[in-house]
Parts: sequence; C-alpha cells; structure tokens
Amino acid sequence: LSRPHQKNFSVQGIIISRKNFFETDKIISILSKERGIIRCIVRGARKPSSKLSGSTELFVYGDFFLAKGKNLDVLTSAKPQEYFEGETNNLERVSHFFLMSESLDKLMPHEIPNEKIYNETLSFFKISEKNSENPSLVYECIYKNLITLGYGLLLDVCAKCHKKTKNLESSFLSLSAGGLLCEECAEKDDFQTRLSPQAIKLLKFIEGNNIDRYSKVQFQENIGTELAGVITDYLNYIYQREMKSPKFVKEIRQLQKNSRRSKI
Ligand SMILES: [Zn+2]
Repeated sequence: LSRPHQKNFSVQGIIISRKNFFETDKIISILSKERGIIRCIVRGARKPSSKLSGSTELFVYGDFFLAKGKNLDVLTSAKPQEYFEGETNNLERVSHFFLMSESLDKLMPHEIPNEKIYNETLSFFKISEKNSENPSLVYECIYKNLITLGYGLLLDVCAKCHKKTKNLESSFLSLSAGGLLCEECAEKDDFQTRLSPQAIKLLKFIEGNNIDRYSKVQFQENIGTELAGVITDYLNYIYQREMKSPKFVKEIRQLQKNSRRSKI
C-alpha cells in the first residue's frame, strides 16, 4: 500500500491526457484507483530509444510506478495491461475516448480518489472496446459520472420552485437552474431547451443503475441525438468554456455519414 508521504508509489489506472513537454518529455494524466487523477512527467518518453514511449500513450491501462518529485511526480516505469485504442482504426470510438477523458480531466477535481467514477469509466472503456455499436454510451456514462460529481439534474421537481413537475409532452430544461422547470418558471427563464419524455426516462434510468444495466438499454436514434446535445451543452456549461472533444466527435460522425452516403 502506498501512502502520500512515501517517496515511491504505484497506482493502477488509465492514461487520460498526454502533452509534449520540452524536447523529449511528456506530461500525462492518469485516472487512478488509489489517488484519483494524477499528473506526472515521463522523462525522455519521446526519444525513439525510450522504453516508456508506448506504455505511456493515451488510453493505456495498467500499473504505473512513480517517484515523488518537487513539483511534478515522475513516472519511472509502467506495466501496461491493455491498450484501449488498440490497433483498430475506429475513429468514432477513439473520439468517444477523447470526450470521456476530457470531461474527467477538466471537471473532476484532481488527486481525490473516487472509486465509483474509476470503476464506471474503466467499464466504459472495456465495453466500448468490445462493442462500439452504441454511439450514445459515452454520453450516458458521462452523465453518470456527472451525477457522482454532484451535477445530477433535478428531474422530478421544478429546479426553481421545487413544485412537482407534471408529465408534459416535453419538458423545459434549464441548465443554469440544474434541471426541469414547471411551466410557470419556464415562462420566466430565458435559457431553456426541451427534453422529451423518453430522454427524461433515460436520464432517470442512468441515475438509478450502473453501466452494466444502462449500457443494455435500447432506444431510438433521435433519443441518442437528443442525449448527445444535452450532455454536450451541459459539459460546456459546467466547464464555462467550450470543450475541445465534442467538436471532434461531431466532425468524425459527419465524416462517417458522408462516406456511408458516398458508398451508396
Ligand atoms: Zn417552478
């Protein structure tokens, strides 16, 4: 067991961000079981001779060994168990991995372990690797993580006046209020989108279940599109700036739609 004051420690986790640093180093973030998200430096990782170059790439899962540094901890060795990006060229899947990683790296406080998020996210990578048929899974799992981080949307009562919301054809969602609005409050709120009853049902199901169950729920493509839109808006709202990867995901989707069309 490693303790915070120890000079050397190890974590199990998955690499969720990677940046070049100086000539040959890189800085990576690991979502770890033991310490939450940690940042560390990998010295010389971009030299062709480096043993650490492959094992410190994005979406590598395994055991990482570190030494406490003055400012940044230093990664000394790695024992990869899985390369989630694999050798596949599935760009859509990779774009979802980027989206999941960016949402955590930017919204989850660093260096605070959270086993629920760790397990849920690891399952997301594993399920996506085996089966990428569900393009909504990334948004479902991000919403689950947002709930764990305290950003769950109020869906049973009005987020402003706390009156019980009636079952409307479609309901008013206010991200700034943090949930659905009753008709009265919706009239006064100028920032709102509509959420269909099916999308509300799905969000509630995610709230009450873990990924093993909600990853199996089947729904129509338009609900998936709705979910993607709402979660993207919500991420940007919480972050208070625009995240990079939602655009990337959109571009990849468009590209694949076009190529499908041109094959016909
Ligand atoms: Zn209200």
